[in-house]
Amino acid sequence: MNIHEHQAKELLHQFGIPTPKGFAAFSVREAGEATQQLSGPIYVVKAQIHAGGRGKGKFKEASAGEKGGVRLAKSRAEVQTFAEQMLGATLVTVQTGPDGKAVNRLYVTEGVEIERELYLSALIDRTTSRVAFVASAEGGMDIEKVAHETPEKIISVTIDPASGYMPFHGRRIAFALGLKGKQVGQCVKLVGDLYNLVLAKDMSMLEINPLITTKDGQLSCLDAKMSFDSNALYRHPDIVEMRDLSEEDPAEVEASKYDLSYVKLDGTIGCMVNGAGLAMATMDIIKLYGAEPANFLDVGGGATKEKVQAAFKIILSDPAVKGILVNIFGGIMRCDIIAEGVVAAAREMGITVPLVVRLEGTNVELGKKIMAESGLKIVPADDLDDAARKITAAVKEAG
Ligand code: ADP
Ligand code: MG
Repeated sequence: MNIHEHQAKELLHQFGIPTPKGFAAFSVREAGEATQQLSGPIYVVKAQIHAGGRGKGKFKEASAGEKGGVRLAKSRAEVQTFAEQMLGATLVTVQTGPDGKAVNRLYVTEGVEIERELYLSALIDRTTSRVAFVASAEGGMDIEKVAHETPEKIISVTIDPASGYMPFHGRRIAFALGLKGKQVGQCVKLVGDLYNLVLAKDMSMLEINPLITTKDGQLSCLDAKMSFDSNALYRHPDIVEMRDLSEEDPAEVEASKYDLSYVKLDGTIGCMVNGAGLAMATMDIIKLYGAEPANFLDVGGGATKEKVQAAFKIILSDPAVKGILVNIFGGIMRCDIIAEGVVAAAREMGITVPLVVRLEGTNVELGKKIMAESGLKIVPADDLDDAARKITAAVKEAG
């Protein structure tokens, strides 16, 4: 799960990590009011969307102006003008995809005199199973270019959980960032505080880009991006509270209500599968037969009829879906339950696209019987290969 910059800054603040003062604003009035509590004379109005690259982003609407999603304002009036332009407009950045994202909230913050822009992030490194910090002296809006063209300018420091964070970790990062004098000590404390925050909130990723040194020699986090491990959210009600459903794909939100793992993809063949491995294999074989999957969907081990029905409806609600492949291996899950769910959903939704079902395992005969007697046009398949061949052919034929 991801959160907005203004929420991430709030967490930084709670952990005593330096960041410029600012306020979230949902309206032009609130944006104006925020300036009264900031010292000025420069304010920054920042579009809040779950994507980076806002500074270099472009709005779809000409009325939102040419200046991107991070704007420097010199007065309260200018803050309000920018707020007026940005709220409700659609911002397209390198990370949003061509459709962009609607800006429904802003962050109004103090303008800071920047000396240098640095890069610092923390993530769970799956190879070492440890928290790793990644740092570069060349932070800011071109970090992707640095990573691509001069990767040697990016260093990483892994923290052994047995020792925990040690000052030498912080010093290595400070030197890599080219910090000197008092800033080294500041950096050692800041990285340690970030490490505590990552662990305390079960983050999967934290990115400060840019981390800056100010003209008066202080370190400060100017931007912050955070992702949280969804499997740990049950123990962080404060983080769950921050979830902004409008930033997420509606079908994925619906799927999460039923505890289904669903990821929307760009293809035309909807897939309903149990088990993540089998779901991957199903997607692979669809590609092998020259088509593209419309989604990844794992209904899980012990799905009920209701869950299968919900999954089926989610697939059918995607207008890009031109055919559906159900591929279920009944172990814990019984094939008759699957068949009942599929038949009920297909009836209720009035399915018009080809549907191929491959069932195997517990109660498979009963499952096949339920489908055969349903009067619906369900094409049975013998195995995975047969299923993929049939669905890709049917979709091609339908055209
Ligand atoms: P994004 O990464 O989405 O483009 P950032 O918050 O990193 O958004 O802002 C982009 C750039 O805008 C920063 O690299 C920095 O140069 C400038 N900037 C951002 N916030 C401030 C601020 N409070 N004061 C001065 N400049 C800022
Ligand atoms: Mg940034």
